[in-house]
Amino acid sequence: MESSDIKEEKYAVLLVEDDEVDQMAFKLAVKKDGLPYDYTVAGTVAEAANQLKTKAFDVVLVDYKLGDGTAFDVFDILGDIPRIFTTGAGDQEVAIKAMKAGAYDYLVKDMSRNYLKVLPGVIKNAINHKRNLDRLKEYHSSLEKLVKERTEQLANEKELLSVTLASMSDGVIAVDIDKKIILFNRVVETLSGSAWHDAMGKNIDEVLKIVNEGSGEPSENIIDVVLKTGQLKVGTSQDCLVGQGGELHPVSVSAAPIGEVGGNVVGVVVVLRDVTREREIEQMKKDFISSVSHELRTPLTSIMAYTDAILSTPALAEQARREYLLIIEEESKRLATLIGSILEISKIESGKMQMLWQDVDVSAVAMRVFSALTAVANKGSIHLGADVPDEPVIIKGDENKMESIISNLVNNALKFTPANGTVNLSVRPESAAGGLYICVTDSGMGIPKEALPKIFDRFYRVYRQGKKIEGTGLGLAIVKEFVSMHGGRVEVESEEGKGSKFTIILPLSVEVKSAVGGAAL
Ligand code: ADP
Repeated sequence: MESSDIKEEKYAVLLVEDDEVDQMAFKLAVKKDGLPYDYTVAGTVAEAANQLKTKAFDVVLVDYKLGDGTAFDVFDILGDIPRIFTTGAGDQEVAIKAMKAGAYDYLVKDMSRNYLKVLPGVIKNAINHKRNLDRLKEYHSSLEKLVKERTEQLANEKELLSVTLASMSDGVIAVDIDKKIILFNRVVETLSGSAWHDAMGKNIDEVLKIVNEGSGEPSENIIDVVLKTGQLKVGTSQDCLVGQGGELHPVSVSAAPIGEVGGNVVGVVVVLRDVTREREIEQMKKDFISSVSHELRTPLTSIMAYTDAILSTPALAEQARREYLLIIEEESKRLATLIGSILEISKIESGKMQMLWQDVDVSAVAMRVFSALTAVANKGSIHLGADVPDEPVIIKGDENKMESIISNLVNNALKFTPANGTVNLSVRPESAAGGLYICVTDSGMGIPKEALPKIFDRFYRVYRQGKKIEGTGLGLAIVKEFVSMHGGRVEVESEEGKGSKFTIILPLSVEVKSAVGGAAL
């Protein structure tokens, strides 16, 4: 089969031989045996060089001694063409040298020219060997290319994974079957206080301590559960991660098995989410429900008691009756305000709150609030002042919302200012700064620094030790929302024990009708 292959194909053979008898013997052998050679004969190194320039050869037969050099000179210019070395008897040493110089084989030219009988086989093998080598080279280089591509791909994937993990807002830790940490991202570093390089390779139980927020007892080890069951496991809503300094971070923990293709669990990946804010909101909502129930019940109890007193005492003196009715009226108003706030916030939450755009005279609104709350200020022995322009200060806005904003701020100022304190309301259009400034300052109890960023949150109330102050934590949330609906912003400055200053800055689409500078009242 192989020999028929070689016969069907013609090989370009270059014979480099200076001996004319040997040349003739080769030609005769080709002719006699019908060898499939398209051969060329070169008698010298120079001739061989010429032939190599003009034609591509599959194999070269080179005699050792040539007129202008040796076979080694020809070898030097052959590139990767397979070569067979021929030499006279007794030159075996040179033959070995030729093999070392890259000859595929060597043939000893014996007197009876037996070597010509083996020549076709050697040529065939030399060519096949070269072809196999070429294929191997090709395979090798495509393998090399593949390895390079895969390595690059892996490096890219690794890079992508580490960038993704680093930029994730959740903490991710992966452990192997022995619970040794094999992956640890930046969020976990921040939460646990353990550096990545310290944590890698450690047992996860040394680094990740999860306790129950209420009892402080260690929570169930969900990594052990996952390793045992091979199922995803989620922690409890009470889980807290213990930081290096012993501080607790509310977290939501979930753990999932890392599985092999065959289904064996080879590790666990743990995802931690900082739920501090969610827990706070949860707590605030709980507090809100309890404070709202309380706030609703107090005036209601009083209304019921006084109504009952009026109804069950027909002979009640007119003055007492009037007094009771006034109390009922006041408590009803309180209830109405409270329910109004709840309705407003729920309207805001559902996105149903609309602006009724109109020209609003902020001076007039401010004076209306001032007048309405003077009685409250007097009752609490607080000096309520107003620094409001006499002239109308007109803005495009919603009058009811504007009144609600100012009234909420002044009400708060009065609520958190003890007797003999002062509360001041001012309205200042500042054309140069491009804003209308509404300020409510008080000399009251102030707001703790750490509470300042949260006071505009819904349901948030500052805990005042030993003091029972009515409220729902909704007033400032409504103020903030209404101000932003007017395209403005609200700022607060406060010092505990000294007082607070709330400033509303509205964009000056304000029309000031005349000069500013109302007298302080
Ligand atoms: P609340 O119904 O409790 O008054 P708010 O949303 O109006 O709710 O206010 C949130 C918290 O901000 C209050 O609980 C209070 O502690 C604080 N606060 C608001 N205004 C003042 C102020 N003028 N002085 C001191 N604390 C204030």
